[in-house]
Amino acid sequence: MKAQPQASHFIDGDYVEDTAGTVIESIYPATGEVIARLHAATPAIIEKAIASAKRAQKEWASWSPAARGRVLKKAAEIMRERNRELSELETLDTGKPIQETIVADPTSGADSFEFFGGIIATAMNGSQIPLGGDWAYTKRVPLGVVVGIGAWNYPQQIACWKGAPALAAGNAIVFKPSEVTPLGALKIAEILIEAGAPKGVYNVIQGDRETGPLLVSHPDVAKVSLTGSVPTGRKVAGAAASQLKHVTMELGGKSPLVVFDDADIDSAISGAMLGNFYSTGQVCSNGTRVFVHKAIKETFLTRLKARTEAIVIGDPQDEATQMGPMVSLAQRDKVLSYIDKGKAEGATLVTGGGIPNSVTGEGFYIQPTVFADVTDDMTIAREEIFGPVMCVLDFEDEAEVIARANATEFGLSAGVFTADFSRAHRVVDQLEAGTLWINTYNLCPVEIPFGGSKQSGFGRENSAAALEHYSELKTVYVGMGKCEAPY
Ligand code: NAD
Repeated sequence: MKAQPQASHFIDGDYVEDTAGTVIESIYPATGEVIARLHAATPAIIEKAIASAKRAQKEWASWSPAARGRVLKKAAEIMRERNRELSELETLDTGKPIQETIVADPTSGADSFEFFGGIIATAMNGSQIPLGGDWAYTKRVPLGVVVGIGAWNYPQQIACWKGAPALAAGNAIVFKPSEVTPLGALKIAEILIEAGAPKGVYNVIQGDRETGPLLVSHPDVAKVSLTGSVPTGRKVAGAAASQLKHVTMELGGKSPLVVFDDADIDSAISGAMLGNFYSTGQVCSNGTRVFVHKAIKETFLTRLKARTEAIVIGDPQDEATQMGPMVSLAQRDKVLSYIDKGKAEGATLVTGGGIPNSVTGEGFYIQPTVFADVTDDMTIAREEIFGPVMCVLDFEDEAEVIARANATEFGLSAGVFTADFSRAHRVVDQLEAGTLWINTYNLCPVEIPFGGSKQSGFGRENSAAALEHYSELKTVYVGMGKCEAPY
């Protein structure tokens, strides 16, 4: 088989198999072909992975931050050297075009290892607090064993965005990729060993929604970081809360992108297309509710339609392809049913709306789709579709659009396109979201915090802020005199 790994799991520095686990088939979305067969973790595998992480964490945390940083920076270097190979694997795992994976997936994982490897030598410092004669100091210490659970849209990136800050801070991790995309994380685990990480600090186990809860509720796990949907987030945060574990929740969204009438229209269209069609629309922070000022609506839609119809859909391994298939048949069916709802509820189909004629075979392809005249109450304007379906809504007034943009349970991201900078800042100030963009969309370099508010989650990934979510403060009070008591 094209992408069969040596074994399903990577524990304590080695590939491990347990064929008693349920079979997980890895399917190449462009053809529907099975490219690898793996097994979900059995309870014995889960125990082995957590025991290995628990043991390794003690040693790893005793290394100086600079020494840990060297390993992470080395891992980043290896990832960059193998960018082509890793990108090809990511394309097989997800169906995303090589044109994207070569610039966005392993590279952003490498950025993460490089960034946290670089900052950790100075970022784990505590403070000294004078108290008159006495004094106190704080230390930032790791949490222990962290569980990472990934979604299927950015498998390698998620494995690194959780692994890099967790390891930098001195934790060990057991990472479970999505059952839909099981392959990439195993390579990250291999690379970390090659870069000099002690065995057991980064383990990968396979599994699905049955496996996840066993990891979350394990008593030796101190923290859970999930990237997934809001319903899964509620379950995972609930289970973690019952044992008072730390959590980071990177969940779904239905983010607004507001285009004012003074915006550079072509730039705003680029932002809307990036924020709806990249990765075949399977991006959590997508600006799927595009509010366009009535005065520019016709021009916006005419140019958007032409550019959308020019997107090159096809074989993800062809460098010229701009859009590949959806990750799975189930996800494509879900998106098609939302498109049907859009049509039935009276939205105007501007372009797309079905399966492209240009591609043949069993791949899970779908046309990039634009709906106009979408109203706030339509299902396609309220629910996360997670596919290439852009909803264009009209507006005329600034206060009105802010209120409508905020009228959602989600709060992951938001964007504004305008030439008026005071309006841009005034509007983003009022939009309820964790990550916002002005005159661009969906750029998430490792230097900036990323994460959601409201039902889109809590905690932040990337930037120095992520380290706070993988460590805690230890405070030491130092008594300099005799201890006095009233008794
Ligand atoms: P999902 O919620 O179905 O699954 C996510 C992961 O959770 C998978 O690994 C799954 O096996 C696991 N899981 C499911 N039930 C579980 C349980 N009860 N306990 C523990 N683990 C469990 O999500 P998905 O379909 O893989 O991904 C799509 C969703 O992820 C979308 O909603 C998208 O918006 C969101 N997402 C968010 C971000 C972000 O950073 N905010 C990034 C990517 C995707």
